[in-house]
Amino acid sequence: MTTADAVFDLSSSIDKMNPGPLYRSAIDEVAESIAPVIRDNQKYQDARVFERLLIPDRVIRFRVEWVNDEGGVEVNLGWRIEHSNVLGPYKGGLRFHPSVTEDTLHFLAYEQCFKNALTGQPIGGGKGGSNFDPKGKSDNEVMRFCQAFMRELYRHIGPSVDVPAGDIGVGGREIGFLYGQYMKITKQRDGVLTGKPLGLGGLLGRTEATGYGTVTFAEAMLKHADESMDGKRVMISGSGNVALYAAELAIEKGAKVVSLSDSGGSVVFDKGMSSEQLEELTQYKEVERGRLKDWSGNGAEFHADKRPWSLVDADVALPCATQHEVEKDDAAALADRGVKCVAEGANMPCTHKARDIFHAKGVMFGPGKAANAGGVATSCFEMSQNASHSSWTKKQALDKLEGVMLDIHEQCLEHAPMNNGVVDYGVGADRGGFVKLADAIIAMGV
Ligand code: NDP
Repeated sequence: MTTADAVFDLSSSIDKMNPGPLYRSAIDEVAESIAPVIRDNQKYQDARVFERLLIPDRVIRFRVEWVNDEGGVEVNLGWRIEHSNVLGPYKGGLRFHPSVTEDTLHFLAYEQCFKNALTGQPIGGGKGGSNFDPKGKSDNEVMRFCQAFMRELYRHIGPSVDVPAGDIGVGGREIGFLYGQYMKITKQRDGVLTGKPLGLGGLLGRTEATGYGTVTFAEAMLKHADESMDGKRVMISGSGNVALYAAELAIEKGAKVVSLSDSGGSVVFDKGMSSEQLEELTQYKEVERGRLKDWSGNGAEFHADKRPWSLVDADVALPCATQHEVEKDDAAALADRGVKCVAEGANMPCTHKARDIFHAKGVMFGPGKAANAGGVATSCFEMSQNASHSSWTKKQALDKLEGVMLDIHEQCLEHAPMNNGVVDYGVGADRGGFVKLADAIIAMGV
């Protein structure tokens, strides 16, 4: 079978599966990157590894029923997609957001398999979540929802089976409630979730890991192009876990952070955000759960309903909010604003067309499956800490994180072609992850 046939066959079998638009776009993108690898390796064609990677091991879908503060009954949908455990226990976050659909989770679980493979840690890929919206809910409502969610999920997970973590809308508070319920139901305190509060077996450094890892990856991209992070203007979107810690490390490395955002708009710091402003904002977002529009940090300008991309000049952009938040026109605006390096802190924030624009304009592009892999890699350190009944120091975790990110950068370089004079990290990451998954699938037999 030729590569064209393989990819064509793939398209027709995917059509039969009828994937949603997000999963489809993730599949198509990877198919394009890895076609030459399949073409050059008869064993991958014979074992039909790519097709076997497309269909998740299983999809678990369930009802979540809980009682709100007024005594009313609420009903949500819950999912866990166990995509592939060929490299280790299913591993990937839980997302609580009203926009969550099965399509969102299919795409995230699939991407997670490649990302986890790149980390070099023994972890498979999965994802889960609910269309529950934590925004505006009281702590007690969030707790009752998490407990109801775990009442169903507990029977599907285990420290060697499936180890969920946080994602959008699921931070330390939610993980604490979920793990508490798991412990009550099962009597086990086996570390089955990662991103846990420290008192429940969490890892020092896990909160910072994804944002820090993204900055480390961006810095490696810059260094490879004989540049540094020092003095660069860095545009960041989002103001959640990934964005805030990306901002922290960027500032520490001498960069000027010129924007953050949330779903209500963007805040711009033309002269760069100070560490004091960041500290204040972190408290405001993470503890008080405030909205950017109501925050008035010294010298910060709020732009309602706007993404940051066309609002300010920058050298580096780190999209850290959500998928498809950088579209074609945003990519063009970023290039016009002087951006030379984009690294995805979020999962697939840049659309396929946006990536094409970056390549056409000679902008370096680091895909999420490489640039934001620091979170899941560090989650794996948390699993090791729990399994060995030991306590890691923050330095141990962050030093190891840095090593993993630099190794991922090297793997991308090893597999990446050049595209319009710049390294094509997107293709490098897809190929690097695919080869590991494909070889393990073959080793496992049919
Ligand atoms: P948080 O919930 O902590 O923060 C998400 C941020 O993105 C918030 O500022 C939120 O604003 C904003 N946001 C969410 N949806 C939208 C939207 N539709 N439009 C505009 N802004 C939006 O999530 P995380 O920081 O944990 O995750 C951010 C991204 O990083 C996600 O893509 C996630 O999958 C990815 N990621 C996270 C990892 C982690 O360790 N946390 C690991 C790897 C990837 P608002 O509050 O207004 O909704």
